[in-house]
Amino acid sequence: MFVEKIKIDNMKLSISSTFDAGNIEVINAENPKNVQLKIRKDTNSDFLQWFYFRVQGAKDQACTLHLTNAGEAAYPDGWENYQARASYDRVNWFQIPTKYVNGVLTMDLTPECDAIYIAYFAPFSYEQHLDLVNNAQQSPLCELETIGQTTQGRPIDFLRIGDGDPSKKKLWVIARQHPGESMAEWFMLGLVDRLLDEEDATSVSLLSKANLYLIPNMNIDGSILGNLRVNAKGINFNREWAEPSIENSPEVYYAKEKMREIGMDFCLDVHGDEALPYVFLSGIEGIPSFDEKLSQLSSRFMTEWKSASPDMQDVHGYPKNEPGKANLMIGSKNIGEEFHCLSQTLEMPFKQNDNIPDGIVGWSAERSIKLGESLVSTVLNIVDDL
Ligand SMILES: [Zn+2]
Repeated sequence: MFVEKIKIDNMKLSISSTFDAGNIEVINAENPKNVQLKIRKDTNSDFLQWFYFRVQGAKDQACTLHLTNAGEAAYPDGWENYQARASYDRVNWFQIPTKYVNGVLTMDLTPECDAIYIAYFAPFSYEQHLDLVNNAQQSPLCELETIGQTTQGRPIDFLRIGDGDPSKKKLWVIARQHPGESMAEWFMLGLVDRLLDEEDATSVSLLSKANLYLIPNMNIDGSILGNLRVNAKGINFNREWAEPSIENSPEVYYAKEKMREIGMDFCLDVHGDEALPYVFLSGIEGIPSFDEKLSQLSSRFMTEWKSASPDMQDVHGYPKNEPGKANLMIGSKNIGEEFHCLSQTLEMPFKQNDNIPDGIVGWSAERSIKLGESLVSTVLNIVDDL
């Protein structure tokens, strides 16, 4: 018996995004060589940049996809030298080249399977988030607490790692205020897994001196909605820290309440940057109470992190604030001022680390995980002075 697979000509493409973190609008997918798409705006907001969709029915067929409104993105510089991420199994993500011309982002691809997923960066889904916190809670070192509810009624998950001894240092790490920056939660996965590894002498040593307080995803609703920067109400959390509200930004409100209840000696707020192809920190030089101690801690933190991971660098980054000119609505600056402690924003690239580029996957989930792991040794080297 011989069965021949018959190639069906003119098979129509099916493009979908009705899944966790999905984002795309189809204008016209009749012709695989000229597929016209649009990035959907964030919920109740004009921001747009995150996309994540499935193309089905184009196996072995050359396709050209146009994101026609890429020029209206929050950070159009993000498209220069950018490569999209694609996957057949949503586990292994690789780069596909793009061209950005006259406000349109174009990608050419010939899928090897019936369905291919295309995203702005390797997604970190809500199911993966639940796996992260549910796996963590099974360690005797970790407790999972709900500190409030999002505006769409989901629990805001908070992890305590350590023995809770109040005389130890109190270290906070929060991530993904901006939901499209999924590398931030990959970072948290690496950090949490290393902290809970009881065979890791660095983690054991750090936990002998400190407790860690972690919010792995500050913006659950926005993540599920497929937003770049805001929650379901259209609020950018990283401009809410001066006056958070239960109504519009409960994640920030309850995080800040918890920080006041527990106290803080260190905070890292984890993000991704659309434009700069480097890992970097943004500091608190511009807060009113910045002093010699915070200055020295900031430099030591950078020196230690560079030595723990060559992905960290301080040549490229945002311009430093002038003294007293920091925007205290921003999380790390507001926290640094209120708790008078070392408080920094970490930025990872959507593109590459140009210092150590990877042509196949670009900056990736795996690199973000390893950077998260490297925070443990970095902080161990400065914890006594925090
Ligand atoms: Zn951000």
